Amino acid sequence: MIRQPIVSVLAHVDHGKTTLLDTIRNSAVAQKEAGGITQCIDATEVPIDAIKKITKNLLKNVKITIPGLLFIDTPGHEAFSSLRKRGGAISDLAILIIDINQGVQPQTRESIEILKTFKVPFVVALNKIDMINGWKPQNTYSYLESIKHQNDFVKEEIQNKVYEIMGELSSFGFDSDLFTNISDYTKTLSIIPISGKTGEGIAELLAVLVGMAQKYLENRLEIDPNSEALGTILEVKEVKGLGKVIDAIIYDGSLKRGDLIVIGTNDEPIVTKVKALLKPKPLTETREKMINFRPVDKVVAACGVRIAAPDLDRAVAGMPLMSAKGDIEKVKEYIKKEISSVKVDTQEEGVVIKVDTLGSLEAILSLVRKENIPIKKAEIGPVSKSDVITARNVEDKYLRVIFAFNTQVLPDAKKLAEEFKIKIFRSDVIYKILEDYEEWKKEEEERERKEAMAKLTLPAKIRILPGYVFRQSKPAVCGIEVLEGKLTKGSKLMNAEGKVIGEVKDIQDQGESIESADKGMKVAISIEGAVIGRNVDEGEDLWTDIPLDDFKTMTTKYKDLLRDTDLEALRQILELKRKHDPMWGL
Ligand code: GDP
Repeated sequence: MIRQPIVSVLAHVDHGKTTLLDTIRNSAVAQKEAGGITQCIDATEVPIDAIKKITKNLLKNVKITIPGLLFIDTPGHEAFSSLRKRGGAISDLAILIIDINQGVQPQTRESIEILKTFKVPFVVALNKIDMINGWKPQNTYSYLESIKHQNDFVKEEIQNKVYEIMGELSSFGFDSDLFTNISDYTKTLSIIPISGKTGEGIAELLAVLVGMAQKYLENRLEIDPNSEALGTILEVKEVKGLGKVIDAIIYDGSLKRGDLIVIGTNDEPIVTKVKALLKPKPLTETREKMINFRPVDKVVAACGVRIAAPDLDRAVAGMPLMSAKGDIEKVKEYIKKEISSVKVDTQEEGVVIKVDTLGSLEAILSLVRKENIPIKKAEIGPVSKSDVITARNVEDKYLRVIFAFNTQVLPDAKKLAEEFKIKIFRSDVIYKILEDYEEWKKEEEERERKEAMAKLTLPAKIRILPGYVFRQSKPAVCGIEVLEGKLTKGSKLMNAEGKVIGEVKDIQDQGESIESADKGMKVAISIEGAVIGRNVDEGEDLWTDIPLDDFKTMTTKYKDLLRDTDLEALRQILELKRKHDPMWGL
């Protein structure tokens, strides 16, 4: 038997996922095929008859065997949970929604990477075409029909937007084009302009999905309805009168009331008995918001179903489930293998990663590996004290961090992390975590470099201001101006002959002691060893005497930190030094 393809919908926030799914649902209901359309909280089954009516003649040349499409709507990144299973993806197809005016955004990038990781074929729905200036909404689900009634400049604008998106997608390695220009959907990614709001373009979107399913997925969709049910948990929730229930997608086999099921957890799998299977009642009205569930005896893949059973306390979203009509031990083994199939190559020196679900784990691992960031530990669950302790034992300060992807940081872990100065990067977008981490790393490196640089004797040229000698000697105190570079405390000073006349003990600016004085500043300094009037005079120019090691470090490691004025001071110092030693600094 051929089951419905499972279609995931991914989008950056506000690009129109909810609206599109509502419109697909409503359009199907409007075709008076309501009897077959059901909606779980997370899944909508649209029967093929409704699709045929919406798509009119678009599918007339396609031999259709699929019974419909099952759309999964999971909030935000949780789509990943619904995507992943051992050795691939649960979703057979995906729609990536991109707002026509906003283009590729962080969650779009992330979705593309995830779709690549899980190898899910997808189409791009270029949404909100009705927002293009001058767009005249037509009462049709067809983009091709509607575009006939649009002005040339509107057509041109859409074409330009399509080109822009094609460019952006090519940076991810995808060859894409407007769907009308595509002959082979396996090689080229199709872009379908739509409006989730007016419904224009939905006919083509559905037709392309059905076409792709028929052409490339038939083998994958063949199931034995009597085999063990295989599924994944989308959500675990508390329902009045039922206690803990799970909303799951069943993608293979069938499940009956009374069946034993095995559910994956972080340790031993849960084995429990299905007390009730609940399916939402078919939608009858287009604007029906309340979902009424009715108990059923059996469900067959592919479908969304709510399962009530005892002992669901340890169940979490994203975990696999399987029925155990036969050998329980075998099923338990299968489930354990499924969980351990997410391979984490750990190293002594690496970051600690915590995530909410198995799908998220696989997703973040693939992106972190791509960035060549080593991993010490990667697990499902909130960030706990023991994670902080694990991170603390990492030697490399740039790896002594925790990535928390869509998971909580427990309060005592947060406190401990603050105490140990361990940085936790937490977000619902993997890219955000990686970007924040890279930025932090850069800032830290920069700060460290500046600190190290500040410890060196910096190049400076100064002038003792005439009339500003406050003390002749022991130590000499006088007013100076920094002519080039930056004068730091502790620098030795030399005269135009390259002879050292003393060492800067203190720098004061308006009575306050400061560490350094930059070009242009007029400050008071004390010079240990100098005797004004004897080895140095008012109005004389002096240079810092840079030790050879400092010179080498500065001109190799910190070259980029040297400004023009530093380079000028350095050039003059080099000239003085080479008067005595022509090879100095070479
Ligand atoms: P989600 O965050 O991806 O689920 O986005 P929503 O479906 O909630 O849409 C975000 C906003 O964009 C809402 O204000 C929608 O009304 C609006 N929107 C979504 N699709 C369209 C569309 O095709 N055209 C226009 N004009 N607005 C849209």
